Amino acid sequence: MNTEIIKEIDVQSVMTKSSLPVGGYSVNPYVGCPHACKYCYASFMKRFTGHTEPWGAFLDVKNWKPIANPHKYDGERIVIGSVTDGYNPYEEQFCRTHRLLEELRGSNAEIMICTKSDLVLRDLDLLKRFPKVTVSWSVNTLDERFRTDMDNAVSIERRLNAMRQVYEAGIRTVCFVSPIFPGITDMKAIIEKVKGYADLIWLENLNLRGQFKGGIMTYIREKHPDLFPLYEEIYNKKRLDYWQALEQDISQYAKAQGFPYRINDLPYGRSEKGKPVIVNYFYHEKIRLTK
Ligand code: SF4
Repeated sequence: MNTEIIKEIDVQSVMTKSSLPVGGYSVNPYVGCPHACKYCYASFMKRFTGHTEPWGAFLDVKNWKPIANPHKYDGERIVIGSVTDGYNPYEEQFCRTHRLLEELRGSNAEIMICTKSDLVLRDLDLLKRFPKVTVSWSVNTLDERFRTDMDNAVSIERRLNAMRQVYEAGIRTVCFVSPIFPGITDMKAIIEKVKGYADLIWLENLNLRGQFKGGIMTYIREKHPDLFPLYEEIYNKKRLDYWQALEQDISQYAKAQGFPYRINDLPYGRSEKGKPVIVNYFYHEKIRLTK
């Protein structure tokens, strides 16, 4: 699906107080997301914006009054990309995320970026000017076929290359293994791949609800029929055994590998190279971060 409906909209401010446990500000320079992930939790946003088009088919580009005093955000956590990817492909043309970072320059805000793109590399010099920055990439598979079935973002290889470069530039990185698809996502293979350049590994299970549940169940029935009974158990009969077993497995694996293992936590600081901190957010529909 192509994003064909693009318009610029005027908003008073781009800074929105977050209602998530993460606190701080949730900042989205765009409305809608061309990455169009089939499991996107943010697609529910559509109903608050008056859009009737399919998720991924529209993009509103925000124009806001410039941030007058960046110090207003000193010490605050600013999350960019919670409900739309600030580095979606149109950022190359509209540069709204870039502009936001420019306007925040000089503040001591903590910047947290969630993306599926490598365009963030363009802003590396700018990001280095903030005292606390974290960039996370969502990677829930190493299989490019499954990836293209699920999203329109850049390849896994490009995401991992970007993660490595950002890590080497001295910025804290996260590999966000999310959403974990039962029977498809190989968490350990992903961790093995990124452990040399990820400070944190966040794990989040797939939740199926709302409009996209039917689409994902149909996909599993058609493309992975052997897994369909498992998905029925988990998503129709609401069995938690699978996640409990996976949780036990990953905590044992972390212990065996010497990786620190946490639950629902957001430890700050860098990790020892090769020993990322694994943080388990299983069972939550939204990432639950505690300071
Ligand atoms: S990149 Fe994130 S916000 Fe965009 S469609 Fe995918 S899950 Fe949703």
